[in-house]
Amino acid sequence: MGVYEILIHPEKCVGCRICQLTCSFLYNGKYSPAVSRIKLHDIYGLTPKIEFSEECVKCGQCAHHCLYGALEIIEVNEN
Ligand code: SF4
Ligand code: SF4
Repeated sequence: MGVYEILIHPEKCVGCRICQLTCSFLYNGKYSPAVSRIKLHDIYGLTPKIEFSEECVKCGQCAHHCLYGALEIIEVNEN
């Protein structure tokens, strides 16, 4: 897997938590938003907030699985 920058567009987030389930399954072997490295706050409010924890390795898998365009992947050139 590569390393990516991930741009966040919180206004597009619908709160489905697929990003969190993807991350927690990949790195913890279970579907649990609580242990996901992507954190969602106030996702059902007017101003959802999305952050990455310090453990995030920028693999981009959460963004690959977001169907709503809330997480945009930018590939980092590692030259
Ligand atoms: S997968 Fe996308 S739309 Fe769903 S909660 Fe995560 S950021 Fe929001
Ligand atoms: S980029 Fe990878 S490690 Fe970081 S939150 Fe997304 S799936 Fe988890």
